[in-house]
Amino acid sequence: MTSFRIAVIPGDGIGPEVTASTCDVLRAVAGSSGHEFLFTEVKAGGIAIDTQGEPLPEETLRIARESDAVLLGAVGGPKWDNLPGTMRPEAALLGLRKGLGLYANLRLAVLFPELKSASPLRPDLVAEGVDVLIVRELTGGIYFGKRGLEKSDECLEDGTPKGMEAFDIETYSEAEIERILRVGFRSAMQRRKHVTVVDKANILETSRLWRKVAERVKADYPEVTMEFMYVDNASMQLLRRPRSFDVIITSNMFGDILSDEAGMITGSIGMLPSASLGAPGTPGMYEPVHGSAPDIAGKGIANPMATILSAAMMLRYSLGLQEEGEKIEKAVRSVLSQGYRTADIVQDPDEPVLGTEEITGKVIEAYEKL
Ligand code: NAD
Repeated sequence: MTSFRIAVIPGDGIGPEVTASTCDVLRAVAGSSGHEFLFTEVKAGGIAIDTQGEPLPEETLRIARESDAVLLGAVGGPKWDNLPGTMRPEAALLGLRKGLGLYANLRLAVLFPELKSASPLRPDLVAEGVDVLIVRELTGGIYFGKRGLEKSDECLEDGTPKGMEAFDIETYSEAEIERILRVGFRSAMQRRKHVTVVDKANILETSRLWRKVAERVKADYPEVTMEFMYVDNASMQLLRRPRSFDVIITSNMFGDILSDEAGMITGSIGMLPSASLGAPGTPGMYEPVHGSAPDIAGKGIANPMATILSAAMMLRYSLGLQEEGEKIEKAVRSVLSQGYRTADIVQDPDEPVLGTEEITGKVIEAYEKL
């Protein structure tokens, strides 16, 4: 039996509801696998501001660091919207990313065939579902490069003074590129073994360095096939032939945009899980893509499946429990194929609509039957 320490950060809004459901599912996993999950609940976000005076108390970061993995619900809500930047709930997310050294963001865009009518894409394009993993570099590139705003002394060709001029610089080192590529290749080894490195190498020097490093890293993964694709083409191909992608590895900004596009293809924000990873052996953070959904908080109707699927990623990527992670995914699929839905993913008025606790119970039941 192995014991795993999991820091649970429920956060705000529906965060406590969806993390409680997920911990119940993990307890069922423990029950049938013989492993042990030791949960330590800590605060971050609005609730931490209210009770401890800051969005990310020191104790939360310390416990997260000492854990094998972190499970996060969501933070934020209208109550804290007018606070200054560093005191806003979202500052907790940045603090956790920085404090845990999380440089890779993995977003899984899975469209279960049972939910295909939620997709805005033509039914024939998604008839067999979609399953794309986007691996986005999280701590480098243009979002973290040098920036500035200054008055220009120059003019346009027609003599118009340029006025103020701003710049944001994209910088990537070989080491930063290599570590994110390795996350992508390792993930591909657990999936369909195909990576698409998305860049703009016809224009950007950084992209050309990405390609060079990618060729080198690829040599360590002979079973994985690799293709390069320009980001403009990738954004079209995701809509035209989404099933042809397995793992997309890309820079911070391109990943930011493409992961939202891929998520949209699934049509169900309540179903999208994510992981943020740092150096091997350090705790990863797992959270749903959706926010704290204040409009439905406390009503018992939130869809817990994005968080439950995030826990499946946690089992795969941080705890080495591949089989159990896969079983959770199969259990979710089985619940959907039996026609059970939460209110956000109902497509047919005849489908039974379940609340958060009820659908969690169905996932546990399905897990235990596998
Ligand atoms: P949101 O994702 O919270 O909600 C968007 C819509 O989707 C809402 O109608 C909501 O009811 C619905 N929804 C979201 N998750 C759902 C679920 N699991 N089940 C059923 N329906 C669900 O986005 P928003 O409204 O833009 O943001 C609300 C708050 O969450 C804001 O304060 C925002 O800053 C914060 N936020 C936090 C995170 C995070 O913690 N990582 C991410 C995004 C937004």
